[in-house]
Amino acid sequence: MSAQRETIVEELHARAVSLGFTAFGIAPANARPDLPQRLQSALQSGWHADMEWMEETRDRRQSPKALWPDVQSVIMVGVNYGPDENPLDRLTNTSLANVSVYAQMRDYHDFIKGRLKDLAGLLARRTGAEVKVFVDTAPVMEKPLAEAAGLGWQGKHTVLLSRDAGSWLFLGAIFTSADLPASTPEQEKCGTCTKCLDICPTNAFPAPFRLDARKCLAYYSVEHKGQIPIQFRKPMGNRVFGCDDCLAVCPWNKFASATRDAKLSARQAIRNAQLSDMLALNDARFRDFFAQTPVKRLGSARFLRNCLVAAGNSGDRHHLPAIERLFSHESPLVRGMAIWALRQLTDPGEAEARRAKSLATESDPEVRAEWSH
Ligand code: SF4
Repeated sequence: MSAQRETIVEELHARAVSLGFTAFGIAPANARPDLPQRLQSALQSGWHADMEWMEETRDRRQSPKALWPDVQSVIMVGVNYGPDENPLDRLTNTSLANVSVYAQMRDYHDFIKGRLKDLAGLLARRTGAEVKVFVDTAPVMEKPLAEAAGLGWQGKHTVLLSRDAGSWLFLGAIFTSADLPASTPEQEKCGTCTKCLDICPTNAFPAPFRLDARKCLAYYSVEHKGQIPIQFRKPMGNRVFGCDDCLAVCPWNKFASATRDAKLSARQAIRNAQLSDMLALNDARFRDFFAQTPVKRLGSARFLRNCLVAAGNSGDRHHLPAIERLFSHESPLVRGMAIWALRQLTDPGEAEARRAKSLATESDPEVRAEWSH
């Protein structure tokens, strides 16, 4: 029986590789008894900011068996999405609308799920076991499970880190009622390095292996629905969706290679998107430009909000006409950030001269308050 289980795992691994997965491992469903306590501690600290779904899904998230009592084993797989350039080099190009590496390409949820279903189907046919597939859309603590399955370790930046793919690994999980032989867990290999903690522009790591989303630029630019708090606008620089700093600085990336997965190649139009062009996008053109990418889920108003932060940080007065056009945008997020951007690019006298014009019809108190920051 044991030999048969090994054979099935070998078959699954080979199939995973042929499907394009670059990492594969198996963890027992009860491999991480520390998860409930870790989750409790993180939620108590409020590090999830206003991502209330984390609180709401706490009971199911805290262990695989809480999500599905019949699960015996968890197959974890990863796909290398490594870039062919250093994302840190993009931060100084102020004319760029800087989109995070993972969002320059097609949304990985879409196509990885198909590959996972293929792999899970093979397991079901070979064993008769039940299977369920998950890609970051269900309350599964994928990173600790990937660590237990030997794919890598959670670095001090909290992201899964692999010896082969550095910080650039998309994860997927297959839960199964089959009892499969477990892989050897990976050990943490950060050592004394603190590069990811040190580079964070907003000090979002209260301690190694702990991320406070309330200070994280990726959170504010991607998840946050309200206005960007004033103290995070300057540190955002030219980032209009996500932040790669802690991932990109990791020394383990030197062992990584650029992805060879055709579905994960960056769309050049997005990678090279100019801020001036992005500020001119209306809703229809936004949805067309970012079709099938994670950016589309942000919506055009929040995307313009972020672009206005980047415009305000650019030092480039050529953006002023576009900024002024956005004074009349339907979203108060956009109108408010347009005021902030204008004030970064003009001296107080010039800003004041434009003040009456833009505020004449403005009734939203939060937008009006942008003049007093
Ligand atoms: Fe670990 Fe250093 Fe990489 Fe951070 S930058 S994840 S501390 S190895």
